[in-house]
Amino acid sequence: MTSLGPIVAVMVSVAVDGPYSYRVPEGMAVSRGAIVVVPLGPRPTLGVVWGEPRDNFAHNRLKDIAHVFDVPPLSEELLRTIDWVARYTLAQPGMVLRGALRSREALDPPRPIIAYKRGGPEPERMTEARARVLSVMEDGYPWARPALVGASGVSNAVIDGLVKAGTLVQVEMPAPPPVLPPEPDFAPAVLSDGQQAALDHIRAHDTGGFSVALLDGVTGSGKTEVFFEAVADCLRQGRQVGIILPEIALTHTFLDRFEKRFGHRAAEWHSEMTPVQRARVWRGVLTGEVRAVIGARSALFLPFRELGLLVLDEEHDGAFKQADRVNYHGRDMAVVRASLAGARVILSSATPSVESRNNADTGRYAHIRLESRFADAALPDITALDMRTEGPEKGEWIAPRLARAVFDALDRGEQALLFLNRRGYAPLTLCRACGHQYQCPECSTWLVEHRFRGVLMCHHCGHEERAPEVCGACGATDSLVAVGPGIERIAEEVATRFPGARPVVLSSDMGSMRQIRDRFAEIARGEYDIIIGTQLVAKGHHFEKLSLVGVIDADLGLAHGDPRAAEKTFQVLTQVTGRAGRESRSGKAYLQTYHPDHAVMRAMITGDREGFYAHELAVRRQGGLPPFGRLAALIVSGNEHGETMGFARALMAAAPLAEGVRRFGPADAPVAMVRGRHRIRILVQSPKEFDLSGYVRFWLDTGPSASGNLRVQVDIDPMSF
Ligand code: ADP
Ligand code: ZN
Repeated sequence: MTSLGPIVAVMVSVAVDGPYSYRVPEGMAVSRGAIVVVPLGPRPTLGVVWGEPRDNFAHNRLKDIAHVFDVPPLSEELLRTIDWVARYTLAQPGMVLRGALRSREALDPPRPIIAYKRGGPEPERMTEARARVLSVMEDGYPWARPALVGASGVSNAVIDGLVKAGTLVQVEMPAPPPVLPPEPDFAPAVLSDGQQAALDHIRAHDTGGFSVALLDGVTGSGKTEVFFEAVADCLRQGRQVGIILPEIALTHTFLDRFEKRFGHRAAEWHSEMTPVQRARVWRGVLTGEVRAVIGARSALFLPFRELGLLVLDEEHDGAFKQADRVNYHGRDMAVVRASLAGARVILSSATPSVESRNNADTGRYAHIRLESRFADAALPDITALDMRTEGPEKGEWIAPRLARAVFDALDRGEQALLFLNRRGYAPLTLCRACGHQYQCPECSTWLVEHRFRGVLMCHHCGHEERAPEVCGACGATDSLVAVGPGIERIAEEVATRFPGARPVVLSSDMGSMRQIRDRFAEIARGEYDIIIGTQLVAKGHHFEKLSLVGVIDADLGLAHGDPRAAEKTFQVLTQVTGRAGRESRSGKAYLQTYHPDHAVMRAMITGDREGFYAHELAVRRQGGLPPFGRLAALIVSGNEHGETMGFARALMAAAPLAEGVRRFGPADAPVAMVRGRHRIRILVQSPKEFDLSGYVRFWLDTGPSASGNLRVQVDIDPMSF
């Protein structure tokens, strides 16, 4: 690696546009990718050496790099990925870099842990607390202080007292033991013929360099076992692997499956880990000690040294699109990073995104199919329940035919899942006396009643208020009604209509990751009969006894005026009905719908997924929509509607002309107000081969600049449009 100097460009991990120049002090050697500390204003800041400086500065005006860490430099492919993400999404490269760098904790060598051991005499005064500590320590091993405090339930002072008395002595425990590498040949699955054919197909496409395979197989076809063998191949080649999941709640199941197959756990990576755990994994990935990671979207920024394979499970999932500071799509980023790293990508799904399907159809991606379920389990038999003719009684949400099917499943000792993708009790609270509707004070949305917790809540900003007893507008009592169902309301109906059944309610707001994981384990053990849940239960889990799925409102996702609505609805319905009937049981699913003739419902009932994709692709092609065209959204936000709209109009008027580029708006965004800020949207549509990011950047650079309370956010490839 070539040392650079005496002046280098350093990308600092803060919101600035480009790298700054620094001097490399005498005696320090840095190369591209080196992680450093540099002075920036009053504060030392983490940064990465980006290369030669852009400008010729006078040496004496530059500051020195303060420190270079003794870790391997970030790989060339990661640096280029960061550049790509910044350029493509119009984010500041420093902010993208920040997602890839950890705190100093990860960069300094792991410190030895201070622990305590039984030393000298029993203390003269033996209190109950002291006795507890000593009984915990009977095993004779050293205990780190937090663990000891936790296990004995005493205060720090008790431990200090025992140290002072000489009963305990302080020792240094060595740093945590090394991570054991997964063993590719530990316990390979015996693949079915179909799985073996899929694996052969994947292997045939392994060029040793960059390639993408779409693993397209119905739910329960055993895609995981297939891509695990590709993971094994990659590990055998001595390269690192990342398995990226759309939902943290799935991590644990995957870690367990991975350990069974490879003998040792993969490292995990997501937002619910402690900073110390994350620091270890980050450092292990950088040094090469960690060979496999299972994690969330942000794992795509880990400092792999020898990346060989990225797997995206449930690749169609909208959760892969990050919607906060840096607006990237995990799937696109995985493909870009792999292409820069010379690695391969496997996109796995039972319902591939229309984008990936198109890439497979045109031959850009290898198309690997698994047409039948593992062990010949049957796909569920799907029936539409026409709510216009056989809907439920007034005040109920479960139609008679679905209710009978639930009773039948209960009689057979099987489980039923009632799916409704809406948290809480009711999406709207209305006063019958005056017509007042409870809205979020900060957003243009209704407040959702969460009856279990006795609050009304905004699902956009998190605003909460106590559920009222009298109408806040007219003061009438007994006049408030809950309109429409959420899962808590379904749970209430289940309790009255299926007394004796053991129900459980599951949604992402029902506790910590650990609590949710416990619920899943209880369901798998058969401790519940009726599962009432949102999206959270639609993905990835296999429950042996689950034979019936009822979708309370199959039309829910179709209500939006969003061209992706049909695709998204088809995906979620396929996922959730796919929970029914695994292993030896055949399953049944009911879709409660007012539109049994809609293309999505037809495709679900007839199982004609090919027809559905063909239809969807034709619609997109005709509209010049992704994947046949590009879209970007510019969201202008501000405190006042008039001022915000005025600025959006001025911005629109300044749009550069370009052939084939169409602009729509400005108009109020679908959610027109969030957290007290008005949101106005401009949509831009361009041909596929057009550099839309470059165009928008030029537009923002040359157009009026947002100042004061006004802001412009750019969303390239918006998920809803
Ligand atoms: P998918 O991800 O395609 O929905 P999974 O990979 O989760 O399906 O597999 C579905 C079920 O079949 C799981 O319970 C899995 O353990 C089992 N299974 C799949 N392939 C095999 C195999 N080759 N040997 C044993 N069990 C398998
Ligand atoms: Zn709100």
